[in-house]
Amino acid sequence: MKNPLAIIYLVDGARPDVMRELLDSGDQPNIRKEIVETGTFRTASSCFPSTTGPAYLPFLTGCFPGTINIPGIRWLDKAEFHARRWGKNRFRSYMSFEATWFNDDLAKDHPTLHEIFQRPFNIFSMITRGLPKGHNLGASVKLPLYFRAHLTHRWEPVDQASHQHLMRAIDRNPDFIFAVFPGVDANSHLHHPRHEKTLAAYRYVDFSIGEVVRKLKRTGRWEETLLIVTSDHGLTATHNHLDLALFLQARGLKTLYYPIIWKLHPQASVMISGNAAGHVYLHNGKNGAPLLGDEVKTALGAAWGELLAREEVDFVAWRGGREVYEIASARGQASIIRRPQGFSYDPHSGDPFGLGKIEAPLDRQQALAATFDSDYPDALVQIEQVFSCSRSGDLVVVSKNGYDLRRAYEWPEHHGSHGSLHREHIHVPLIYNQTGWDPRPARTADLFNTILKWSGKSTLENTDGRTLC
Ligand SMILES: [Zn+2]
Repeated sequence: MKNPLAIIYLVDGARPDVMRELLDSGDQPNIRKEIVETGTFRTASSCFPSTTGPAYLPFLTGCFPGTINIPGIRWLDKAEFHARRWGKNRFRSYMSFEATWFNDDLAKDHPTLHEIFQRPFNIFSMITRGLPKGHNLGASVKLPLYFRAHLTHRWEPVDQASHQHLMRAIDRNPDFIFAVFPGVDANSHLHHPRHEKTLAAYRYVDFSIGEVVRKLKRTGRWEETLLIVTSDHGLTATHNHLDLALFLQARGLKTLYYPIIWKLHPQASVMISGNAAGHVYLHNGKNGAPLLGDEVKTALGAAWGELLAREEVDFVAWRGGREVYEIASARGQASIIRRPQGFSYDPHSGDPFGLGKIEAPLDRQQALAATFDSDYPDALVQIEQVFSCSRSGDLVVVSKNGYDLRRAYEWPEHHGSHGSLHREHIHVPLIYNQTGWDPRPARTADLFNTILKWSGKSTLENTDGRTLC
């Protein structure tokens, strides 16, 4: 190929089953004709927490959120927090003006695709490190555009703007484009993952793909284009909220949480993502070192048992010791053990992930294959990667589908949630105009090296993904 072009259509919040139904009912005619009929429709596994922003990282860096040090849309750095009273890097919410620090917060030793390609373009993603000047399309209008959509609950203008920028990018001889269409996610949060307005957002993406493919054909570039339609997470409908921060606060733990972040000497901090996952940090005077094993239960006191018994809570996870992770739920407790040869899973007093005992150490690909069709795809690897990050909590709390973990200061109310490790949040569509790629279960992190190889570039060793093509 003389001039390859790779495009990622990031249909934020798209579910593979909804996509399939729309394809089967003739509601995605362009995706069907231009991509699926001569290419591939499959499901891939995203990452934990399955939340907008952190879950874009696998595509653009090949790394999971924990690997690249962004373990959620909100986080706290315990070591920083204990070392400095006023430091800028003590905690984050990318739902605020702090989103501008996202690129600085990324681990420096993993390049983004924008740093590797010569003529990359970004549309509406917050990961922009390495983009040449003038290649972050729509950057100047993004804030007012998103703010207006947030206030009016109308996201069509944002998807339309994304499409227009994409069409313009094609005129500038790009070699890589990452384009975010936020309408499916926003309407799923506002209404329901299958609400008519959400389905309309899926249809708009199909319209956009039709226009883009026609333009690529007209300009002679279609034969050299890798077009990938995918997503960062699915969503499920939400009918009840447990406010995890207020829950701890009501049980006598002085708790820091967004936007109430100016508290002296908190005993706990709660940082929610998506809103079905949350990091809980326990400030116990250990100079910011993470708590291990029973230290977590002790620090939570009476709240521990009550939390596990709550109907909203699916499971909690924490570091059991070196390379051991504990999972507890109303269904019992299990350990994930990471050895040099791989992962095993020991459901010693119950089986929260429903996987049965996994004794033989599994490498990362085997661990994905063993869990891909379960209720918790890739659970072994995802729990390990999130706790590998020093900015992750002492405890991770995950809500059941139908519930989430944030109520106060959340406007408009969320009627759809993501962030958890459940299949309905982790499985995403992976649709591309190619065939013959590695058919084994795939992760979104695999697309990084796949795009590099497809484009004739060297793949990178230190990522969480493999090469599919
Ligand atoms: Zn998202």
